Amino acid sequence: MTRAGGGLRGLRPTAKVLPEHARSHNRSLVLQQLYRTEGLSRADIARSTGLTRVTISDLVGELIGEGLITELGQREDARPGKPATLLALNVHAFHLIGMDLSDKVAFHAARFDLGGTIIERISAPRGTAVGEDALEIVYALVERLLRDETSPILGIGVGSPGVVDGEGRIRTAPNLGWHDLPLRDLLAERFELPVTVANDANAAVLAEHTFGSQDAASDLILIQIGAGVGAGLIVDGAPVSGSRSAAGEIGHVVVGTDGGPRCACGKDGCVEAWVAAGRLAEQLEQAADPAAAEALLAAAGERLGIALAPVVGVLNLSEIVLSGPTTLLEGAFADAVLETIRQRTISDIHAELTLRMTALGQDIVLRGAAVLVLSGQLGVS
Ligand SMILES: [Zn+2]
Repeated sequence: MTRAGGGLRGLRPTAKVLPEHARSHNRSLVLQQLYRTEGLSRADIARSTGLTRVTISDLVGELIGEGLITELGQREDARPGKPATLLALNVHAFHLIGMDLSDKVAFHAARFDLGGTIIERISAPRGTAVGEDALEIVYALVERLLRDETSPILGIGVGSPGVVDGEGRIRTAPNLGWHDLPLRDLLAERFELPVTVANDANAAVLAEHTFGSQDAASDLILIQIGAGVGAGLIVDGAPVSGSRSAAGEIGHVVVGTDGGPRCACGKDGCVEAWVAAGRLAEQLEQAADPAAAEALLAAAGERLGIALAPVVGVLNLSEIVLSGPTTLLEGAFADAVLETIRQRTISDIHAELTLRMTALGQDIVLRGAAVLVLSGQLGVS
């Protein structure tokens, strides 16, 4: 059985494997095989990883000892010799917690099993809470999930709005009133668990890459359109975070030289000022008829396309995924984005460019937060 409709794809490791890390790297390789496919023998894993049978037997023994892998029984086949024992990831050996702090109205959290399936999901209204008050809501959600937990917890993953550095510190999240907040360390100390914090769009693109469409490419930009506009990037199979942890911050890039709506940041004509979900919805309310509504959405889509064209051209991206309210983004808006990019890039090179809505819906950041823990703690994705 393959999980998630066969759409799981691993991330390319971003660092070189040093000899002292070889064992944990090899452990991850074994787990990765079983994360994707249930019911493999030791020989299957040796073949697909290129590791020796002895190494695999040794690692599998260790992982069975830790409860991460179980033996399913023997393969029923007609091959000569001793039938192979099939192995599977024990998805309940550990559970993990994922959090989505990107929704303006409420914070969301869920318990996952190791296969990435949601076991329990809870939310807490945010109201007007900012700063320390917003942080207290985050703590309370984790406490509620831990209260009923029976499996050991592998870790906590958090998708937060704003700029998040590699140490899980929120450099700035104006909507939440967080500046230089060491969220990772605060959660890790309080709950004594490994914690990974990433920008919400960066978490979302991990979810898309791991659980999204089966034939998705290894070069991917995910545009998240909600209260703000953000982007997550995977280039050549590896997530891109940027030298100042702010890669994908496309929301406050000004589009064009003709001014435009005033943005919350003070500039005129930022991507966010053109295409944030609230503005699109407001405009549609004022549209006289369906044709006028389509024209408004197409004009906004064109603005996003103008901003994306140089990114697609420079990085030679093959896939754009939109995440946000489908009623606004599907149709005229999405068509205009793609058409504009096509017009503005070399058609031969970008003929294969595709644009689609995410299939993960509203859970995309939550599921991305789970991928942060799985890839960080077990090396699987
Ligand atoms: Zn702006």
